Amino acid sequence: MKVLLVHAHPEPQSLNGSLRDFSVKRLEKAGHVVQVSDLYAMQWKATLDAADSTDRRADAHFDPSLDSKRAFENGTQSQDIAREQDKLRWADAVILQFPLWWFSMPAILKGWVERVYAYGFAYGVGEHSDARWGDRYGEGMLAGKRAMLIVTAGGWESHYGPRGINGPIDDILFPIQHGILYYPGFDVLPPFVVYRTSRMDEARFSGVCDALGQRLDDLWKTAPIPFRPQNAGAYRIPELTLRADIAPERSGFAAHIV
Ligand code: FAD
Repeated sequence: MKVLLVHAHPEPQSLNGSLRDFSVKRLEKAGHVVQVSDLYAMQWKATLDAADSTDRRADAHFDPSLDSKRAFENGTQSQDIAREQDKLRWADAVILQFPLWWFSMPAILKGWVERVYAYGFAYGVGEHSDARWGDRYGEGMLAGKRAMLIVTAGGWESHYGPRGINGPIDDILFPIQHGILYYPGFDVLPPFVVYRTSRMDEARFSGVCDALGQRLDDLWKTAPIPFRPQNAGAYRIPELTLRADIAPERSGFAAHIV
């Protein structure tokens, strides 16, 4: 299988750098083909702006969505964006790997999403009608592919537990897993999270690698998070609220998981 690992850490000798190297080796040893987008090493341009297409008049008003759509349709996207889209088309599975920074992904990775997820590629796809609201949340250009997060966090596991001060990790990662990965169609696997990173030593690192290695070995058989598909009847269209009889006792993020 083909795996794209998108890595966002500025220091190759970091814990994240070690986990990346471990992951690539483990996947390759199992016979998979791996491409790494090492965003800092690539000096990835993190800001979405008018320079992202090659055919804009300098004095034209910049519309982030419509310019993205035009460039995607006309083949005038900046080359770095088109290359990453090709990698996404190529991959059977995509891993986003990053340290948790301010309860989210580092800005460089957010910028990768903003620029690579063009209008017509990751959103604005499919028919909008009384019965459908586009191909998204379980459908879309990346449907049939798997995705997983590898995240490191300074906080303890308990800090991210059901009643932890930081909020549950599933809630913190929901905008990434549901909003960024499930939205364009990925089947999203449960995340691999390493907590309390300041307490890392050789022995613990070895245990982390064992656990991560198992997750990578199981990449093709792990059950995805059962997010509810948008167009399969659970949501009223066009309100896009859950039908009253579906999980009536639940609200918030958890309501969108079967
Ligand atoms: P490193 O600092 O490189 O390493 C961590 C430890 O692992 C070190 O002790 C190192 O010696 C050891 N190590 C590295 N490689 C190996 C190896 N191969 N073998 C054995 N030991 C090794 N945390 C939160 O929980 N929530 C937040 O919202 C949050 N926000 C942050 C915002 C910013 C801007 C920053 C800078 C940090 C934030 N943190 C937060 C902490 C952050 O998540 C952790 O610092 C990060 O996940 C650690 O990953 P790293 O790759 O940078 O680790």
